[in-house]
Amino acid sequence: MHTTPPKDEQFLADFAQMSANGATPGGGVERQAASEGDILNRRWFSGVLEGFGAEVGYDKIGNQYGLFEFVPGAPYVAVGSHLDSQPLAGRFDGAYGVLAGAHAAARVAAKVESGELAPRFNVAVVNWFNEEGSRFAPSMMGSSVFTSALSLQDARAATDLQGTTVGEAIDGAKWAPLIDAPKVATYAEIHVEQGRGLENNGNQIGLVTATWGAKKFVATVRGEQGHTGSTMMRDRRDALFGASLIIAAVRRLTEEFAEGRLQASVSQLTLEPNSPVTIAREVQFNVDLRSPDSDVLAAARTRLDEIVAAAASEADVEVELSLTHEWALNPYPEAGVELARECAQELGLTHQEIYTVAGHDSTNMKEHYPTVMLFVPSVEGISHNEAEYTTDEDCLAGLALLTRVVEQLAAGKLAPDKR
Ligand SMILES: [Zn+2]
Repeated sequence: MHTTPPKDEQFLADFAQMSANGATPGGGVERQAASEGDILNRRWFSGVLEGFGAEVGYDKIGNQYGLFEFVPGAPYVAVGSHLDSQPLAGRFDGAYGVLAGAHAAARVAAKVESGELAPRFNVAVVNWFNEEGSRFAPSMMGSSVFTSALSLQDARAATDLQGTTVGEAIDGAKWAPLIDAPKVATYAEIHVEQGRGLENNGNQIGLVTATWGAKKFVATVRGEQGHTGSTMMRDRRDALFGASLIIAAVRRLTEEFAEGRLQASVSQLTLEPNSPVTIAREVQFNVDLRSPDSDVLAAARTRLDEIVAAAASEADVEVELSLTHEWALNPYPEAGVELARECAQELGLTHQEIYTVAGHDSTNMKEHYPTVMLFVPSVEGISHNEAEYTTDEDCLAGLALLTRVVEQLAAGKLAPDKR
């Protein structure tokens, strides 16, 4: 067992070392789920966990756990986030929260060992598999399987653009030992904000009170392949033209609502045959709608159907729109917000309540377990970009708060009463 709690300097040194795993020349990381960078980083992280005295294991969907067992047989306080990244991503998104979780757990373990804390629960650090959803959709895959929002079978069957399935990627990574997912009592997560809310207000900590609703679609536009020169314009059924009408209209849709009420994007596109002198016969892309207001989200969905119908008619193509993933505007448990607020006050950290626009693994977990979700500031709100940055001071303030929260959870706070 680890006897002295890891210090702030060790956290910063570990974070710097972690950021070298899958590092990109622009100062970011490339660690998409079960890619070389992710595999390397997970192996490194196992070493960190074992150094703290945790037992490392993986469940069937590749969630990585570091288990600190204080009370044999008791459920766990789970604390973590995700180590996987988007392509050419920043080094903080998800990774900060997982490493902070490990350090918080180690600090709590040291307190248990010294007799300063009498735990009711054990503590499990968790690195959720494929939160980003960039290589394999849907996002938040590991926590979705953990909470049964997605079946293991469906998750393992998801493929990347090369046709590799999640199952093949996980089996190929040979993560061992395979264990049963731990039984969880409560959950805590800390993440970089990925927005400007905290920075604009000069606060160190965000107490996340709700998540924006989201609807994610895949649109498939089917036209007819033809020669880009000789096919007469009136004969064309150009799938790329149809797609472009929708893409532009989705962006303009946001202007139909008050500023800040709707975020809408198309960010991935594949086309067939993708050849210079051939009109595209099929184009597939994603559509992502998000709002803090369920009425806005519902209205945007209706407008999206109208946009699709208009584009299909104008371009003489067929468009299939299928909803692939959605979550409702959803509050985080109030008791968790209150606990985090008390801990922040105790530590003298400036804080505010905040919504999350992005989905997180805690979005899944809060549906089943008392959950605390915390943010630290992101400089200029930069996210999914190599330039993403959070200061050392803010990282350490977040770690201190997370440690205090995990300590309280381990002592039994937020948990349903003993039976
Ligand atoms: Zn993230």
